[in-house]
Amino acid sequence: MSLGLVKNIVIVGGGTAGWMTAAAMSALISNGCKIRLVESDEISTIGVGEATIPVIRGFNQLIGVDENEFLRQTQGTFKLGIEFVNWSKQGESYIHGFGVIGRDQLLAKFYQYWLKLYQAGKAPGVEHYSINTMAASMNKFMRAASDSGDSPLSDISHAFHFDAGLYAKYLRGLSEARGVRRTEGRIVDTVLRADDGFVEAIVMENGERIEGDLFVDCSGFRGLLIEGALKTGYEDWSHWLPCDRAIAVPCESVSPLLPYTRATAHDAGWQWRIPLQHRIGNGHVYSSKFMEPEQAESILMNNLDGKPLAQPRHLKFTTGKRKRAWNKNVVAIGLAGGFMEPLESTSIHLVQTGITRLLMMFPHLGYDQADIDSFNEATDNEYVAIRDFLILHYKLNAREGKPFWDYCRNMEIPATLQRRMDLYRSNGRIVRASDELFTETSWLQVMHGQGLRAKGYHPLVDQRSEADIAAFLANVKDVVLRCAEHMPTHEEYIASCCAA
Ligand code: FAD
Repeated sequence: MSLGLVKNIVIVGGGTAGWMTAAAMSALISNGCKIRLVESDEISTIGVGEATIPVIRGFNQLIGVDENEFLRQTQGTFKLGIEFVNWSKQGESYIHGFGVIGRDQLLAKFYQYWLKLYQAGKAPGVEHYSINTMAASMNKFMRAASDSGDSPLSDISHAFHFDAGLYAKYLRGLSEARGVRRTEGRIVDTVLRADDGFVEAIVMENGERIEGDLFVDCSGFRGLLIEGALKTGYEDWSHWLPCDRAIAVPCESVSPLLPYTRATAHDAGWQWRIPLQHRIGNGHVYSSKFMEPEQAESILMNNLDGKPLAQPRHLKFTTGKRKRAWNKNVVAIGLAGGFMEPLESTSIHLVQTGITRLLMMFPHLGYDQADIDSFNEATDNEYVAIRDFLILHYKLNAREGKPFWDYCRNMEIPATLQRRMDLYRSNGRIVRASDELFTETSWLQVMHGQGLRAKGYHPLVDQRSEADIAAFLANVKDVVLRCAEHMPTHEEYIASCCAA
């Protein structure tokens, strides 16, 4: 891609966001443009982003990363979905598996046929029709088989768990080899142009001035340029997503190696469990209004599967997003742009879409407000859709008698989300925009998994007899089960990918 007027790009920050940006830009941008990344060894990265969603595979392909090499470099494992434990009632669990469920028909989506029989008490849970969920529950894994025709084996949809610190290190190697210049040191000031307030330069502790045409702010929660220099403002969503603290601690691995993330609800939040090859990543996300840090830490430490490998690390955050992700000549990517808790592993995805959107709207002819507005509108829509999906998990809890969960169950929710829940409850309809991240099957699994029951189903389903639908569903269930049984264990599959 030709860069036109942008000759110097400065990336501020070398966490996952900074190095993903550097890797993508250095892979896709040419024409003598200089890319410089500035990071401070004294200011640590967040580095706990370890669980992802399937779209990361497209990003890795875009920047030329081989999947097996990526697994070796990052101690990665495969992820088929997320298990939610105790989110509805204590003792109940469900899996939100990636990918399709059953086979959609010309007349109606698969889940509409399932709804009809499920409502009549003649079909088991929806998980039986998902290859991802069935494989996950059996600790099985393989990549989608491209040569298996109409078999569910071609439907397997995977993401990864990985060590975010190792990923950033790996991307740094790739980026530097492609000409990205890294500068280590602390940024202490920002110089704004007098006429239009654009950022002209950043100033390092040693007095060096680094000028740029475009600044990508990847400085983490600080938002050094987007907030510190440009005072863009932040939209706070903590009344809908009240968790504002996290404690992270790795522990020793245990067998079997699960091919999914686990999210277990506790009294004022939830705990993540992310299995990597060399350790398990754990963390407790909680609300400081409802729990003290000491209690939150003790819950986490008492619920580890292996011996802790480090001291627990306490983090604070405010859920929400920057009012404008792109302001003047600064684009905020990663935590500098906003943060929503890792319940559905969406932060690294937002980094990725921020980068690809910036490349699509690149200001090669200079800064145009229409481009900037369009970038910001798309970013806002993306954040809002993910936000609603996360709120759904909290709103639909049945953990009665726990103040945090009572608050979440009774809170007012965005009208956009209320409408989606109402549509599903009345007719089993799931309505979403075509470019939204989470699919109908994602919404179905979470709404149903958290106990929301549809009263109806699509009337076109009635064009087929009940016996015909029953035979169709039974066949899908049977084939999915046999395919999952046929797959290797997750551990076996990882070993085959990582063999030299
Ligand atoms: P950071 O990692 O904070 O990096 C900031 C960089 O800016 C650092 O290099 C720092 O040195 C530099 N910097 C800052 N100030 C200065 C300065 N003055 N001078 C020079 N350099 C400076 N995402 C997922 O996708 N999946 C998950 O499972 C997941 N779990 C998470 C759990 C928690 C509790 C949190 C908080 C986040 C999680 N995330 C997850 C998000 C993920 O960790 C981040 O989106 C990702 O790591 C990107 O972070 P970042 O690069 O924006 O910021």
